[in-house]
Amino acid sequence: MELAVEAAALGKRYGRTWALRDCALAVPAGRIAALVGPNGAGKTTLLHLVVGLLKPDAGEVRVFGRPPREALPDIGFVAQDTPLYRDFTAAELVTMGGKLNRRRWDAALARDRLGLLGIPPDKPVGKLSGGQRAQVALALALAKRPRLLLLDEPIASLDPLARREFMQTLMGAVAESETTVLLSSHLLADLERSCDHLIVLQRSRVRLAGPVDELLAGFRTLTGPQAGSAAIDGVAEVVRASHTERQSTLLVRRGDGPIDPLWTEHEVTLEDVVLAHLAEAEPRVPASAWEVTA
Ligand code: ADP
Repeated sequence: MELAVEAAALGKRYGRTWALRDCALAVPAGRIAALVGPNGAGKTTLLHLVVGLLKPDAGEVRVFGRPPREALPDIGFVAQDTPLYRDFTAAELVTMGGKLNRRRWDAALARDRLGLLGIPPDKPVGKLSGGQRAQVALALALAKRPRLLLLDEPIASLDPLARREFMQTLMGAVAESETTVLLSSHLLADLERSCDHLIVLQRSRVRLAGPVDELLAGFRTLTGPQAGSAAIDGVAEVVRASHTERQSTLLVRRGDGPIDPLWTEHEVTLEDVVLAHLAEAEPRVPASAWEVTA
């Protein structure tokens, strides 16, 4: 299995504060990976390390097995707020992109995309709507025919309709190619339906990462009698627990074997899993209280 992005013990700090710490990742080629976490979690830092805009202070990251700088011709990057030279028209930006990317530049692809979306080629992009500007930035990134496309909160500032249109065009564009996509958002809902790989960052650390189908299969919600601290058969870890007088609701990572039939099992949604891992109010149940039963 070829890995598009691979990180080991990756870290970046500003002064004494780590913006990203101990990051281990393996995103297989061909995936649509969502990078989710609250503001300040380290998403931009991770994307900048992957594209080589930042140098790590610890560990390393590789893109298709190479250091980011060597892989740069294969990487397309749409930075936060899709910064573009606002006085230039979309047509001028397509021409300029060709001069900056002589090795590989599909100007016709960019022009066709913008034409299909009805984006005026001769209007300064600063005068376009936010959604149109995001589409121009995406068309420019795709014209490079990247093997890895990175997008940093591409739809954060768009209205709901423009968000949906942007995600639709993005998914349509990558479906036709083998492009691996890594895109960040502070809202899971924006990406949940499109991604098949998930990375959750919180407070500079990876809280959860893996293929979506494995994550969904690996967790369960259990409801049942007021839980004590005894281990539950078939449960490797209680990620989050809430209790009423009569019953407990647990989000658990499954262990080996069937789950104790005293508990009723429910399938989880991706949102359940992410929220349970991001929940800050309640500290994680100490391992000593929930022994692993394997
Ligand atoms: P996110 O993209 O998830 O919102 P960032 O990667 O932008 O998070 O930031 C992660 C942490 O690093 C935050 O605490 C942020 O304040 C800090 N940080 C980011 N860039 C800098 C910088 N240039 N100087 C100092 N601290 C920074």
